[in-house]
Amino acid sequence: MLIRQFFAQKKCVLSLEVFPPKTEPGWEKLQHLLREAKKMDPSFISITCSAGGSGTAGIPTSQVAAFVKNEVQIEPLTHITCVGSSEADLNDNLQHLMASGIRNIMCLRGDINPELPLHKDFLHASDLAAYIQKHYGCFGLSGACYPQHHPEAASLLEDVQNLKIKEEAGVTHLVSQLFFDNMHFYRFLNLARRAGITLPVSAGVMPIVKRSQIERTVSLSSASLPSEFTRMISRYQDDPASLYDAGIDYAVKQLRDLIEGGADGIHLYAMNDAAVAAKVYDGIRDLL
Ligand code: FAD
Repeated sequence: MLIRQFFAQKKCVLSLEVFPPKTEPGWEKLQHLLREAKKMDPSFISITCSAGGSGTAGIPTSQVAAFVKNEVQIEPLTHITCVGSSEADLNDNLQHLMASGIRNIMCLRGDINPELPLHKDFLHASDLAAYIQKHYGCFGLSGACYPQHHPEAASLLEDVQNLKIKEEAGVTHLVSQLFFDNMHFYRFLNLARRAGITLPVSAGVMPIVKRSQIERTVSLSSASLPSEFTRMISRYQDDPASLYDAGIDYAVKQLRDLIEGGADGIHLYAMNDAAVAAKVYDGIRDLL
């Protein structure tokens, strides 16, 4: 089923994101999460990829997607980055996905690595989406958006205007970068709607349950930290059990507000942790 169709059927579409593990124990842990995830009844599960292409040093994105589709029977959203790909690389990947019955693709540029050669075939996610749309009409296309704007964009307005190009290229659904203050999401959505972007948007939320997650997550996402969040971290930084509970509570509060505030969808960055995903789900299931 194409992801866009879920938004026509449900008031708020629940989805999860996982990443391909690098080791066999990691893959077993992820399979456990994916089987447990069935109880949460998410409409789709997205699977990230490395910036250089679909695979990682470990389990390939396409293998996780096939497991989600065939074993767990949930719709996978398979991420593809284009920054390091030639047209030939992309065609190989797309033909493989098509043969595996994958129908939904998250079109991404990927972060530019100055140490790697830059293929000029696809400079932006919109180039990737336009190519797939033209040559492979069977895929549903999603794209990324950034409530606090992409770091390369001069402003939120400029970033939103570039999203319009993504929509015109054939993207029919957006997933947002994570954020810790819903005000940023509502402001972004308001601007996007005023710019004429009508696509459904899944709001991305990541529960922060460990101190080690904070620095990495914040630097990768460029999300700013509201005072309520930093107070929680400083209060519990030396008390892992309390930080875990407070992190779940924070994410649940954010998600409940988003659902009640009318978000088209909520996207849980589950970090391959079944227990965290289940606890967050328990806190929001009555609203879904
Ligand atoms: P683009 O849409 O190309 O945007 C990049 C910059 O270019 C922005 O500043 C934008 O305003 C501008 N721009 C966009 N289109 C145009 C245009 N046509 N003309 C001029 N300027 C334009 N990375 C991974 O490596 N693997 C993943 O699995 C992955 N999953 C992600 C999932 C989500 C939900 C999000 C939000 C990000 C994800 N990323 C992933 C990170 C992403 O690859 C980086 O943020 C990357 O730097 C930008 O990718 P993009 O697809 O948003 O690029």
